[in-house]
Amino acid sequence: MLGQIERGESSPTIATLWKIASGLNVSFSSFVEDIEPTTPELILRTGTLQQLHPEDNKIRVSPIFAFDESLKFEVFIIELFPGCEHLSPPHQKGVIEHVIVTQGEIEVLVKGKWHSLKQNEGLRFDADQAHGYRNKMSRNAIFHDIIHYN
Ligand code: MN
Repeated sequence: MLGQIERGESSPTIATLWKIASGLNVSFSSFVEDIEPTTPELILRTGTLQQLHPEDNKIRVSPIFAFDESLKFEVFIIELFPGCEHLSPPHQKGVIEHVIVTQGEIEVLVKGKWHSLKQNEGLRFDADQAHGYRNKMSRNAIFHDIIHYN
């Protein structure tokens, strides 16, 4: 798979990108954004939700703040379309995710249990184990995902 991607014969889905990032011990945003070599004191960003792969037609992601080596975290805005269920493999040891819903309702899978989250509710969990996100509602849901690396 890595060889196919390197030769440009295949483009990875979000799920595959996460697996590769975890396997290589790097952040997800390092694949979807160039990292600024230095950290400016003020960064103004506009989230542009993008579909990364044709197969990922029910999920859109925007790396609003890419991984910062000195701060050890990255921030995504993620939109789930109705019926979307996105399962994530375990990230590196010590990774913690903070999920905050800004629109609609989602469910987050942690340790085999789905937790329901409404707008303005947040959930923090150990993400060095299998986890997932889904939208069982009839309208789109948007959440912020702050991923902290140890
Ligand atoms: Mn994750």
